Amino acid sequence: MTDCIFCKMASGEITPDTVYEDDQVLAFRDINPQAPTHVLVIPKQHVATLNDLDEGNAGLVGSMLLAAAKVAEQEGFAEQGYRTVMNCNAWGGQTVFHIHLHLLGGRPMEWPPG
Ligand code: AMP
Ligand code: ZN
Repeated sequence: MTDCIFCKMASGEITPDTVYEDDQVLAFRDINPQAPTHVLVIPKQHVATLNDLDEGNAGLVGSMLLAAAKVAEQEGFAEQGYRTVMNCNAWGGQTVFHIHLHLLGGRPMEWPPG
């Protein structure tokens, strides 16, 4: 997708503050952090929303979660704990339409979210 900002990050056209990368996913710091550590994990492949995933993407979504756990370890809060979030469409609060997993850590999280 030529007009997708996260595709531009995945292709290297825009350089984010990368904290982890493998053949399937890229993880970088959110530009508007909501916690001491706020990282977004994206697939390098464009998928607009969670609703657009199919069974063939199961491994991809697993890779996103594994990457989040690795970053939590790297950032030093894996044992204390952290929050992962994926927003879908308007009521879920999704604003960038290339799926991404939010990894939030470095402070206690509250529940329920707003
Ligand atoms: P969501 O509202 O779940 O779609 O999350 C989109 C996230 O992308 C927000 O937390 C934004 O702060 C973040 N974001 C948007 N543009 C950028 C960017 N250029 N670099 C890093 N994070 C971004
Ligand atoms: Zn994209």
